[in-house]
Amino acid sequence: MAIALQSYVQDRWVCPTGGLVEIASAIDGRPVATCSSQGVDFAAAVRHARDMGGPALRAMTFHDRADRLRALAGYLNDRKEVLYRLSTNTGATKRDNAFDVDGGIGTLFAYASRGRRELPSERFLVEGGVETLSKSGAFVGTHILTPLHGVAVHINAFNFPCWGPLEKFAPAFLAGMPVITKPATATAYVTEALVRLMLESGILPVGSLQLVCGSVGDLLDHLTGQDVVSFTGSLETSQILRNHPAIGRNAVRFIAERDSLNAAILGPDAAPGTPEFDLFVREVVREMTVKAGQKCTAIRRAFVPRAMEGEATRAIAEALGAVTVGSPLLADTRMGPLVSLGQRDAVRLAVAEIASDGEIAFGDPNRCEPLGADDVSGAFMAPVLLRCPDPASARFAHTTEAFGPVATVMPYGSLEEAVDLAARGEGSLVASLFTFDAEVGAAIAFGIAPFHGRLLIVDRDCGRDSTGHGSPLPGLVHGGPGRAGGGEELGGLRGVFHYMQRTALQGSPARLASLTRSWIKGAPAPATERHPFRLDFDALRIGDTIETGSRTVTLEDIEQFAHFPGDTFYAHMDEEAAKANPFFPGRVAHGYLLLSFAAGLFVDPPPGPVLANYGLDNLRFLKPVSPGDAIRVRLTVKAKNAARQPEYGEVRWDAEIFNQTGETVARYDLLTMNARPHAAPAA
Ligand code: NAP
Repeated sequence: MAIALQSYVQDRWVCPTGGLVEIASAIDGRPVATCSSQGVDFAAAVRHARDMGGPALRAMTFHDRADRLRALAGYLNDRKEVLYRLSTNTGATKRDNAFDVDGGIGTLFAYASRGRRELPSERFLVEGGVETLSKSGAFVGTHILTPLHGVAVHINAFNFPCWGPLEKFAPAFLAGMPVITKPATATAYVTEALVRLMLESGILPVGSLQLVCGSVGDLLDHLTGQDVVSFTGSLETSQILRNHPAIGRNAVRFIAERDSLNAAILGPDAAPGTPEFDLFVREVVREMTVKAGQKCTAIRRAFVPRAMEGEATRAIAEALGAVTVGSPLLADTRMGPLVSLGQRDAVRLAVAEIASDGEIAFGDPNRCEPLGADDVSGAFMAPVLLRCPDPASARFAHTTEAFGPVATVMPYGSLEEAVDLAARGEGSLVASLFTFDAEVGAAIAFGIAPFHGRLLIVDRDCGRDSTGHGSPLPGLVHGGPGRAGGGEELGGLRGVFHYMQRTALQGSPARLASLTRSWIKGAPAPATERHPFRLDFDALRIGDTIETGSRTVTLEDIEQFAHFPGDTFYAHMDEEAAKANPFFPGRVAHGYLLLSFAAGLFVDPPPGPVLANYGLDNLRFLKPVSPGDAIRVRLTVKAKNAARQPEYGEVRWDAEIFNQTGETVARYDLLTMNARPHAAPAA
């Protein structure tokens, strides 16, 4: 029986009041679900997100949200079988589910880790350093990022009903913005099941996730400059949405991931018989057949040196011939059907267009004999390899996207020509280059980089480990320039920043330090009564400071330090040679000697709350220290960050080393792990 899909709005499931659309199984055309958003109050959905979801999320820190994402990922991971089962009707095989279901859950895990590791346990983010805006240093500026107060509307394509919504949800949630997600109708039953699981988990705050199954109705009319629309789909729909009056009038942030005619380039050195040739053939075939080629990152254009065109085409065709097309329910099936008969018609039309630039080299777009099914009621299509002999004058091969198991082989002469042809895709998500030649790598990589969001250079060294043309790793750029969407960077923390406003903050060091909870030079730095190394993580306050006594650096110190580790660089050992160096007045102390002496000055030795020193950031040696100079240190608590483990937290100290005339000779951030009260060893 067909599933009657519902929307989830204002914390309840809403049944459609009419306008039902039937969704057919990709395998046999049988009705799988019905769908409509009629009856959804879109204005109320937006209000609910703003009034309930937003405040609840903004009350949490990045770490709170990251922890919930991790818990959610674990919850879904334990229940993903139901998503696999439903996905079968979309045409997805087991291999396809690894991309969509497991890939989506993996994205939640990845954002959870990055949120914990790279974002503070705060509700806002300080970005970049402090700018001094006046001579005296009493007026400074910095940047903060805070979550927008609106709603993130996510409109997704049909091809990734799990990964698509999750890849958008994770960064918005981590940023602190509630989401209204709208799946493509063709595969909405998988997303509906996913959202049911997410809500049932009880992990998400009220109002942080709503679902619209069916059309978006008048949703966009209610959006303002605090809202974000993130769209994935075709160029045409993207244009309709971008030109929506409310989007333009209210300057609603609009992010698009769209068509992309991605390229794979076989280097002139990668002749048949080389590992790079084999890797190229394997990758083209894999990209054509995973998800039946319905993947935004799939290889659509395969560029090969003119002299190798015949062999490359034959090798790809031979490998395609071994791909078993059939019902995803059968173990022997390697490639399932397209999502719908309508999608197959669209792909056949696109193939006909591209074929007018050349010919079909392998496969018949109109004939397929699927295993365990038929191609009349099911949307099966055999892989089709096209050949375009004169790509410089092609009308369709670079711009018509056949969103199915289709690619076109095109020959090139020179490397410049390969670069020029790849760029005719008008901007793509990804390109891959198969070469073991450094010069070919440099000429093509730097030539095509401006037209791509991601470049994959594959050779015998990394071929086995490569995650492939189609798989960006969380943290790397996803998104591409021009046609592919306009260059928005959607991967990693940049994806989080789309949901936040960056604001320049100006004022006195004291005011900015108290607002950002991060000490700034010039802000109060009160000396603590007890040595700060005696204070546990919770007792330490931002600005707590120790000013040390001084220590004179002698020539003996320098020599001893030189001979102990063996650093007898001439600037420390040879007066004449050091003097000839433009930076030094004569022999000078090693920078590392200064750091060691600094530690000797500020460390309080007995066991206590400081558990470990785990690094330095932003180290600069600013002035040489000569024998006879005396140094002292000021150590100030700059920031504190709770760790995942409740027993300790990270303390960032501002360390500044001065000479006897008060000039700064070195400055750095020192990082320590400090115990929290109950876990501190006895001092
Ligand atoms: P689509 O037809 O453009 O639909 C995308 C989404 O937009 C669907 O949710 C659709 O909902 C919705 N939509 C359609 N018309 C709309 C309108 N007037 N107002 C509001 N929403 C509207 O794309 P698709 O066929 O689902 O997906 C295939 C395309 O996505 C391919 O072109 C592919 O290249 C692209 N894609 C790109 C990326 C990327 O990262 N660049 C990733 C995946 C897919 P309904 O289904 O309910 O109409």
